[in-house]
Amino acid sequence: MTKTAQDIGRVITRYGAELILETASGEQLRCTTRRKLEHVACGDYVRWQVEPQGNASVLAILPRKNVLERPDFRGKLRAVAANIDILLVVSSWRPEPNWEMLDRYLVAAHLLPAEVLIVFNKADLRDRYHHPEQEACLREYFEIGYPIVHTQAVDGNGLAEIVEAIQGKTAIFAGQSGVGKSSLISQMLPEQVIRVGAIGETGEGRHTTTVSSLYQLAGQASLIDSPGVRDFPLPKLTINQLQAGYPEFTRFAGECRFNNCTHQHEPSCAIKAALAAGELPPRRYQRYLTLLKSQSNN
Ligand code: GDP
Ligand code: ZN
Repeated sequence: MTKTAQDIGRVITRYGAELILETASGEQLRCTTRRKLEHVACGDYVRWQVEPQGNASVLAILPRKNVLERPDFRGKLRAVAANIDILLVVSSWRPEPNWEMLDRYLVAAHLLPAEVLIVFNKADLRDRYHHPEQEACLREYFEIGYPIVHTQAVDGNGLAEIVEAIQGKTAIFAGQSGVGKSSLISQMLPEQVIRVGAIGETGEGRHTTTVSSLYQLAGQASLIDSPGVRDFPLPKLTINQLQAGYPEFTRFAGECRFNNCTHQHEPSCAIKAALAAGELPPRRYQRYLTLLKSQSNN
């Protein structure tokens, strides 16, 4: 028997044991997986080949840059999206911004690791619902240096900035329910791409489907739409992991008297000194304390 040529492809969606791959030449191909590859996820790069019977099958998952996991109904962690370059964390003016959740996503992005873009959607509601305290919270992220875009999914305003920020990258949206993630995704995907993503054994539409799908956008951008990770839970963190998720701390943290300083009650804490001197954003610090407490309580 002649040896069949193997090729590299990327998983764009998965339904049970069946995958759709994008091949190196840009074609979409239905493929099966072997049992031991049950953890293959949307966004994975895989080695595949055409079997003698004519069907395509996946042979191996290539090493991942990172993976997002979520517990299934049995509580077992399942890979739902792999090789994420940038997390698009969406907030809105209504529902009100949940700053603590935003901070959790930023820490999660740091851990993955992945870049992050803060997307503030429903810009049309900003004048009506903004509040000096909310604006002050938002300003803190800007001062820390997080990239922020303001969008309006209803008319597509600001979307070009997202597309520009994700060129050459694989992006995924996250954020609490109701902030406009599905609306942003619908605006970003051309019609024909939506139809491709809707292929499914159940015939479900894209908006009701629970599988993850990867879409190619204008230029060199890929977007994974994964209902399963839109509100993915933050894993339990060590203090070091949590602190590493606060880029504004790094400038001072080495100067604390204790190298395992939690920046709460310790004497000669450089973070507390910087706060007192107005050199660190106080709202972010307060939420850091809340997050620290919630981590040590569970
Ligand atoms: P998701 O739960 O994050 O996917 O949010 P959806 O995309 O389902 O949007 C929730 C609601 O917000 C829907 O009623 C949308 O029409 C609305 N919405 C989305 N984007 C905007 C926007 O830019 N401005 C306004 N005013 N409403 C929006
Ligand atoms: Zn300290």
